[in-house]
Amino acid sequence: MEAVSSMKAKMLDGGEFDLKQDVLDGFKMRLKGPLLLPGDVGFDESRTVWNAMIDRKPALVVRCLGVADVVASVRFAREYNLLLCIKGGGHNIAGLATADGALMLDMSLMRGVWVDPKEKIAHAQTGCLIADVDRETQLHGLAAVLGFVSLTGITGLTLGGGFGYLTRRFGWTSDNVVGMDVVTAEGHLVHASSDENADLFWGLRGGGGNFGVVTGIDYKLYPVGPEVIGGFVAWPASEAPKVLELYRTLAETAPPELTLLLMMRPAPPAPWLPKDRHGTPVVIIGACYSGKLEEGEKIVAPIKSFGTPIGDILVRRPYTQLQTLLDAVNPKGRRYYWKSEYLPRIEPAFCEKFIEHAAKIQSPHSAAILVQLSGELNRVNDDHSPAGNREARYILNLAASWEKAEADRVNMEWARQAWTDMRQFSTGGTYINFLTEDEGPERLQAALGDGLKRLAKVKAKWDPENVFRTNRNIKPAG
Ligand SMILES: Cc1cc2nc3c(=O)[nH]c(=O)nc-3n(C[C@H](O)[C@H](O)[C@H](O)COP(=O)(O)OP(=O)(O)OC[C@H]3O[C@@H](n4cnc5c(N)ncnc54)[C@H](O)[C@@H]3O)c2cc1C
Repeated sequence: MEAVSSMKAKMLDGGEFDLKQDVLDGFKMRLKGPLLLPGDVGFDESRTVWNAMIDRKPALVVRCLGVADVVASVRFAREYNLLLCIKGGGHNIAGLATADGALMLDMSLMRGVWVDPKEKIAHAQTGCLIADVDRETQLHGLAAVLGFVSLTGITGLTLGGGFGYLTRRFGWTSDNVVGMDVVTAEGHLVHASSDENADLFWGLRGGGGNFGVVTGIDYKLYPVGPEVIGGFVAWPASEAPKVLELYRTLAETAPPELTLLLMMRPAPPAPWLPKDRHGTPVVIIGACYSGKLEEGEKIVAPIKSFGTPIGDILVRRPYTQLQTLLDAVNPKGRRYYWKSEYLPRIEPAFCEKFIEHAAKIQSPHSAAILVQLSGELNRVNDDHSPAGNREARYILNLAASWEKAEADRVNMEWARQAWTDMRQFSTGGTYINFLTEDEGPERLQAALGDGLKRLAKVKAKWDPENVFRTNRNIKPAG
């Protein structure tokens, strides 16, 4: 930590607090992990998030090395009424992990995972990325229900609901959490499960980071892999009408072990696609079959034999490898803007719009994406947890991605226009974790629906002063 005589941090009442050197020294003594100030080695790494559209400067960062550091930091923040922010993987598109002038809890040094293969439970610390959990659970032939990109943080994903290749079989990620350790606004460590602090447990499974700092998550695990049938098949975009029809038909009858994705985008410079196709518009089906391999090979055969693909890497492969295939097309440090809706079905009129808007993509990195979700999540009651959206069968994501600030307007406009035109096909619901910075209360309502009122009550009990507010904030009420 640099020797500074004082520094200003934002307070919860909107004022600024002058943190004098002796106060900072005293705080440092209460920590095991490093306390970083602007200019310190690692400070910029901590404050930088995945989406380069977001550039905020916290006042100070604690790189927590254990639950005790989290407790000490929350208590310190409360003592001086400081604004707090919490960074898991920093992947949230709206940059909710970081806030100007805040005390940031950077959880990224807490990446331990403990697997109980007998009980089929993994306990993961909340700085973990998906790859950390996959790596440890796959040692035992098990997997948690997590997302599609291995570098995504598990915590923001889980607190907002979460979905991935196993969702059709087992439901939202949050449906598969059996317990969480939480440091409350009072700086106390509590456990939340269906038997202990059940109201808090309910709120945490979809209501985001509104109720405390989560330090550990217990996930239910399932036998998966070590090999699955997974990967992608690509065709030129001129084949899109037929490929979308294939997707639609297959998705409607697919067993839960099969999850199908569809993307339209300029072909990325991936080694499995011919060089002369790079940058040209393509349509891609992605698949994961996590049941018996021989069955899976038969089930994906119609995809592989359809028309004349320009690339095909839909093969037997380790589950952990499949989980990394989309990492390269979602790098940290590009500019991103998404618009997203849940869909109850895919109808021909939707397919036409999807193809029309994909053809208007403005950047070599953008994509129009469909992900199949239908299955277990549709069978759970709506009030089970705030993740809700139990009628969602697909998610549409209009994912704009580009490199330079001067291209912001045209790329954001593409996503907005496509969304405006395709919103008519929505369930009316959207995914809280895909909301961008400019999406306000109306979109939060769309994401949380009727659960929002109950969440406000849970918030009033566990965080009445709204200490945890750098998130999709739920105001305490009732
Ligand atoms: C490339 C990419 C791929 C994605 N793929 C998927 C996918 O397949 N499935 C899916 O469901 N989602 C996916 N997402 C969305 C993802 O769920 C969100 O971006 C999520 O926020 C990531 O979690 P994180 O820990 O990195 O979040 P962060 O950005 O670190 O934090 C997000 C929010 O969670 C809060 N938070 C973080 N840690 C804690 C904690 N310990 N305690 C309390 N609150 C905390 C933060 O304060 C913040 O409000 C993807 C995102 C990206 C960028």
